[in-house]
Amino acid sequence: MALLRVEKVYKSFQGFLALSGVSLEVRAEAFHALVGPNGAGKTTLFNVITGRLVPDQGRVFFRDREITGWPTPKVARLGIAVAFQRAQPFPSMTVLEAVVLARLGYTGQTFRLLRPLSSFPEAQAKAQAALAKVGLEAHAGRRVAELPLGDLKRLDVAMALVAEPEILLLDEPLAGLSRAERRRMVDFIGDLLRREGVTLLFTEHDTEAVLALADRVTVLHQGQVLAEGTPEEIRRDAAVRAAFLGGGA
Ligand code: ADP
Ligand code: MG
Repeated sequence: MALLRVEKVYKSFQGFLALSGVSLEVRAEAFHALVGPNGAGKTTLFNVITGRLVPDQGRVFFRDREITGWPTPKVARLGIAVAFQRAQPFPSMTVLEAVVLARLGYTGQTFRLLRPLSSFPEAQAKAQAALAKVGLEAHAGRRVAELPLGDLKRLDVAMALVAEPEILLLDEPLAGLSRAERRRMVDFIGDLLRREGVTLLFTEHDTEAVLALADRVTVLHQGQVLAEGTPEEIRRDAAVRAAFLGGGA
């Protein structure tokens, strides 16, 4: 059964068609890659799935329940978490505080933030557990601004995992990392999510990394699905090679 299903989604910006009839199915416990060049519509699709954007047409389902246009916090509470550069807006917070704040966001408690974060013991415990999962427990007291990029990405993952999601959406989790760091991050994400039983939908344009991590690949090109299949099928697909993979990405 598909855990997440996107059906014929269209989204345009001032007449520019960013998504043009995109359909996608992510099976439970899959590691599903959404690949495509810059501007293909990957982030827009994530924004539609997570309720940050409402599609012009088309529908989004989670476990056969239609969630099209649901507000983002409600989508998160259903079990869909997204990690993209969320910690950076809070550079002066500690690592632990950032994850506690994320937890409070998911549980709809941010309106009570006039209280100190230490007065939320449940969120603190969940945050500590999430930091342990990503290997940042020893850095809980550091300021977010002090973290190197690799740790910042782990923090982003912790801020998503603290929602205890069934599916995690990672938008370009390897962006900005060196080749060696990419390999480490791929291993880290793969081991972590397999252990947690969390389904993954991620975007990436480094094909080597995609083939190492994904068991299913959807290729997006100019707002349309160009191909869908196993990494091996995608590697062999002539249309994909012509449009994208051959470009040395
Ligand atoms: P990707 O993540 O694959 O690089 P995006 O989804 O960010 O692609 O963007 C797809 C296309 O939609 C791009 O041409 C981009 O300029 C355009 N676009 C995305 N968001 C907006 C927006 N809020 N307003 C106008 N155009 C946008
Ligand atoms: Mg993008």
